Amino acid sequence: MTLSTPAILRTSAYINGEWTDADGGRTFTVRDPFSDEVITTVADLGSTETQRAVDAAYAAFPEWSSRTAADRSVILRRWFDLLTAHREDLATLMTHEQGKPLAESRGEVTYGASFIEWFAEEGKRVYGDVIPSHRTDARILAIKQPVGVVAAITPWNFPIAMITRKVAPALAVGCTVVVKPAEDTPLCALALAYLAQEAGMPVGVFNVVPTSRPAEVGSVLTGDARVRKLSFTGSTATGKKLMEQSAGTLKKLSLELGGNAPFIVFDDADISGAVAGAVASKYRNGGQTCVSANRIFVQSGIYDAFIEELSRSVGDLQVGRGTEAGTDIGPLINDAALTKVERLVADAVDKGARIVRGGGVADAGPRCYRPTLLLDARPDMAISREEVFGPVAPVYRFDTEAEVIELANDTPYGLAAYFYGNDHARIWRVAGALDYGMVGINTGMISTAQAPFGGVKESGFGREGSKYGLEDYLVIKYLCWGGLTPKQTGR
Ligand code: ADP
Repeated sequence: MTLSTPAILRTSAYINGEWTDADGGRTFTVRDPFSDEVITTVADLGSTETQRAVDAAYAAFPEWSSRTAADRSVILRRWFDLLTAHREDLATLMTHEQGKPLAESRGEVTYGASFIEWFAEEGKRVYGDVIPSHRTDARILAIKQPVGVVAAITPWNFPIAMITRKVAPALAVGCTVVVKPAEDTPLCALALAYLAQEAGMPVGVFNVVPTSRPAEVGSVLTGDARVRKLSFTGSTATGKKLMEQSAGTLKKLSLELGGNAPFIVFDDADISGAVAGAVASKYRNGGQTCVSANRIFVQSGIYDAFIEELSRSVGDLQVGRGTEAGTDIGPLINDAALTKVERLVADAVDKGARIVRGGGVADAGPRCYRPTLLLDARPDMAISREEVFGPVAPVYRFDTEAEVIELANDTPYGLAAYFYGNDHARIWRVAGALDYGMVGINTGMISTAQAPFGGVKESGFGREGSKYGLEDYLVIKYLCWGGLTPKQTGR
């Protein structure tokens, strides 16, 4: 891997402003998911070192939180500028450890950095209220304060953006943070720490604890009463476990969990727009996003024309090494991901689905699953109930609006949903009826720092991005100021 700033590749943990090895020098390997080649080895932290990271964040909190928002904003802005300046190196690191095509990695660096820029500004606008009082001799105020030390546990699918959209609002309002990145992608997290250090982030404010033993580190982060908030993005099963573990100390929680996104195409949709939206939503990052279209529902009247165009577009997608020009889809992240995709496709085919594009692993590499289109999918197939997290699109045919709303909502998940159509009354009806935290209308791309990202039902709670993203890191304090002698009337 060639980097113009080789120092951006770090292999130690970042705790209290220092690059530290694990006690006993323990390490774990980071591999390129395309070739399985070892990229490097990274410090493998356990509970003792994690405790030290919490100590550091706890010690740094009083000073960091007492600064003005404008002071913190200057440092965050420098951090943003450094991410932007090192975009190419960060993208190279990302493609090597995560596998996505370079163009997508560049896009993620820009997207990830945008949360820092956004919250550097938004942190200056944490307003409270002065509330009309119940007594003439008292005043009521509601002020907002940072919750305290924040733990962030993040996934491998967006190794930079999933960190910045938690850490930027936390730091902007005065919290200090300990990040535990995913074991598949620690290098991007450590590169962020390097750039934070370069930006002049005070010691202890931002700490990164890589580990191959997430449960051990997770139990320290959830068990320590000094950690007042946990923000997690990952699977619903792990989210539930972390919520249980956090019950002992009643932490404030943000959980951004799995999805099972419906993508609905009504008869009056613009076909080319709907096909482009479906391809973007389904195949971006090889389908490894929690907002990926998981089930594509197409109305009978437009079915044949839509499938013909979608099939052509899917056939054009190239799977291969992320660093090679022309690659649209990289490898799946690991063997477990491949096994899952193979199981879901086999079950669907067993139950009557037809593969019209792709199916199976491509010659390009052992984890390169072909972009796949499955027709005649049905709700009783496992692929309809589980998050695919791979480049496989199951398509369902439907007749009526009522029928498709019922099908779309028939899942415990409630993260993102999408639909295409042009009848304005129906757009309002369907947008209201979909039981999801986010709805894309005539678009397959909804993520941006300006908008509130998050789910309902078993997709979790809390919002990331937008002005609402700050609230997850704030607590309200009510001040009742008594003993104020009411103004005397007359003499
Ligand atoms: P995925 O299926 O995307 O790997 P996970 O929920 O397993 O989803 O992983 C998301 C993040 O949660 C990763 O950083 C992973 O290391 C972490 N994680 C997994 N299990 C635990 C656990 N028991 N405690 C704390 N963190 C965990």
